[in-house]
Amino acid sequence: MEITPRIHSIPAPIGSGFYTGPQAPDVYLVVDGGEGALIDSGFGDEQSVKARLEYLRERPEVKLRYIVLTHHHFDHSSGAHQLRQASGGQIVMHPQEERFLRDWQGDAPQDIDIPADQQAIAERVQRFRQQAAEAAPDVFIEDGVTLRVGGLTLEVVHTPGHTMGSICIYLREERALFTGDTALGLGTVAISPPPHGDMRLYLESLERLKGYDTALMLPGHGQPVQDVSRKLQELIDHRQEREEQVLRLVADGKSSARAMLGTIYPELDRRIMPMALRQVEAHLAKLAEDGRVEGAGDGEWRLRG
Ligand SMILES: [Zn+2]
Ligand SMILES: [Zn+2]
Repeated sequence: MEITPRIHSIPAPIGSGFYTGPQAPDVYLVVDGGEGALIDSGFGDEQSVKARLEYLRERPEVKLRYIVLTHHHFDHSSGAHQLRQASGGQIVMHPQEERFLRDWQGDAPQDIDIPADQQAIAERVQRFRQQAAEAAPDVFIEDGVTLRVGGLTLEVVHTPGHTMGSICIYLREERALFTGDTALGLGTVAISPPPHGDMRLYLESLERLKGYDTALMLPGHGQPVQDVSRKLQELIDHRQEREEQVLRLVADGKSSARAMLGTIYPELDRRIMPMALRQVEAHLAKLAEDGRVEGAGDGEWRLRG
């Protein structure tokens, strides 16, 4: 599906992957002058990979040079190794992501939380994570590096926060910004406390993205966004409001992340409780770093000074 003649989206069929519809991970193809790059790979199940490969096969004139992974999460990376084998494209990633990508049995939070009683889902997730671990990077890229695809310039912007090695890609010739899970087309982004994520760095990353002259944002989930600076500002405002709320709750004596959950998320689905807890902990970690709260032991917090 063409978004512009040089930017395509390659959806996977409904029912493939792990979840589809508006929440499915987006896979983009950037093409110019007989060369191409994928931005993210999507899921590694047969149907998802097949959909992406067929799209490439319909364009035999395009040589795939890169498979750029915005971050290690398996919804973005588990198809990468199979796509590399079939296309010869090189897998590109920020060095800070590799350890989490390879450690498929580790406890790094993903974009999908698995309820403890859902054994079948847990097994599928393990399979996806195992596939993701096979996507050993061929090329490491740091902030400011540019990749050439035909006549196009893909500038790497390191945007830690959602994960520590999350990157965005700024496609200069189209003023297009691929944001991975740093900014989504729908809803807000899940941020974990260190070492897996960082709320303070996340806000800095969003501020930095606002500085780019962007006509089109292409997120890791959801639809393209045209009013990019408004979208980024919405995400920043949401985080700042949440931070103030957390601070007020600490002042009111709700001294642990768990105690705050009921007030912050009154209709919280039990299944996403761990993810919600991590969000609040990420805010508390930032407030502690800012010198506004301090730990009082046992997961409790108090105002500082
Ligand atoms: Zn994701
Ligand atoms: Zn993610």
